[in-house]
Amino acid sequence: MDGQMINAIYLGAAVLFILALGGLSSNENARRGNLYGMLGMALAIVATLLTPGVDRYGVIAVCMAAGAVIGFVLARKVQMTQMPQLVAILHSLVGLAAVSVGYATYFDNGNDFTVAEKTVHDIEVYVGVLIGALTFSGSVVAFGKLSALISSKPLLLPMRHGFNGLLLLLAVYFGVQFVGAESMDEAVFPLVAMTVIALIFGVHMVIAIGGADMPVVISMLNSYSGWAAAATGFMLANDLLIVTGALVGSSGAILSYIMCRAMNRNFLSVISGGFGSGGKSGGAGGAEVSGDVVATHVEEVAQMLRQAGKVMIVPGYGMAMAQAQREVAEVTRLLMARGVQVAFAIHPVAGRMPGHMNVLLAEAKVPYDIVFEMDEVNDDFPNVDVTLVIGANDTVNPAAMEDPGSPISGMPVLRVWESKTVVVLKRSMATGYAGVENPLFFKENTRMLFGDAKGNMGELVRALAE
Ligand code: NDP
Repeated sequence: MDGQMINAIYLGAAVLFILALGGLSSNENARRGNLYGMLGMALAIVATLLTPGVDRYGVIAVCMAAGAVIGFVLARKVQMTQMPQLVAILHSLVGLAAVSVGYATYFDNGNDFTVAEKTVHDIEVYVGVLIGALTFSGSVVAFGKLSALISSKPLLLPMRHGFNGLLLLLAVYFGVQFVGAESMDEAVFPLVAMTVIALIFGVHMVIAIGGADMPVVISMLNSYSGWAAAATGFMLANDLLIVTGALVGSSGAILSYIMCRAMNRNFLSVISGGFGSGGKSGGAGGAEVSGDVVATHVEEVAQMLRQAGKVMIVPGYGMAMAQAQREVAEVTRLLMARGVQVAFAIHPVAGRMPGHMNVLLAEAKVPYDIVFEMDEVNDDFPNVDVTLVIGANDTVNPAAMEDPGSPISGMPVLRVWESKTVVVLKRSMATGYAGVENPLFFKENTRMLFGDAKGNMGELVRALAE
């Protein structure tokens, strides 16, 4: 197929990717958005296979088949609760691909460059490998933190900003050496040295992030993986890869910005990696909380709900862990059938990935029009009779507003304690992701319904159905 035809198909694929992003902006259109994305990707693969010069179909077929099998098995096996770590590890693969392509294009000396072209190409390779390497190692650490293989607490080295500054200076120094190298042999050392520096930087950046700041890192790594793909596009002179990478990179950056606002963090301090300890106390923990905890049981909660005029449901990571969304949807249906007004309040960082709760609720067929974002309902709590907090913890922690020394101080939270009664469903008094004690559990109007959320919600369904 000739180049013009290929470009036309690439353009079509790029438009489909933009439509896919547009579709994903709302629950109603998300399915259609996904279809556009799949179609765009199919077109892109076909056009790439028909590109002049692409002829090693045997190798391509084997690689595609291996990738397809791994992807298929993973998609079948992975639990919804493991999705965030899957996304993190997939980001790491994008980074690894950028590094591999960078090395391969550099050492493949089939190109006949002028001096100016060679300089531009060398810069593309250097920047591509740099972004790729830090995306790779950062995503691997994020994977470790999200799957609890590494502690979620921030690991802060002394003088970490100085250390980061030193790494940056070294990366620039080796960049000058690399671009100015007379021969390939001379260029190897600066390229490898920078790769190691970028790998260390990725680890250092993410490991220093703790408390409740991880969501920002997840979306930032998403953005970096896009820029890594765009850099790969420059190295391979592939327009579609540049466009797609830029789309992912910029949408990830916008998401990071939205996340920062939700967490009340400064975007600039986030992108410089200078965040993590959250509050002034320098690390997870916060003030000791004490007082009496009042436990309740399913029958008592059912009674409260039957008598309520307005019920607010606040889901969190524990609902995902318990896979309780179907029971939650059933309780909602039973209450609405009784004429109780039910609404859902979703915190922007509830769960372990952006939109986590919305996906679960949509899967359980909770109507979209009763699911609200935090800002839409936070002032309504004084009018709520019963708030059911289902496996949420950090996102409903009053310490964020009341304790200036708390690691999550300043993070906007759902003010559930303003409702008449709060029922918290969780298994124990354990802390949430940020590792911060929660004074909500000790408030006078709070009742703790201990146990697995799926089990308790199932019993609640039976009690309400009677
Ligand atoms: P949290 O992580 O604060 O708390 C979840 C709670 O669920 C725990 O306290 C746990 O208590 C309870 N739980 C766990 N399993 C069960 C179960 N089977 N049944 C009942 N309860 C259970 O959740 P939130 O959603 O409130 O907050 C999300 C946190 O994750 C924030 O700190 C956020 O910054 C962070 N984060 C968010 C990301 C995102 O993009 N959304 C990404 C990465 C991190 P117990 O063990 O006692 O049952």
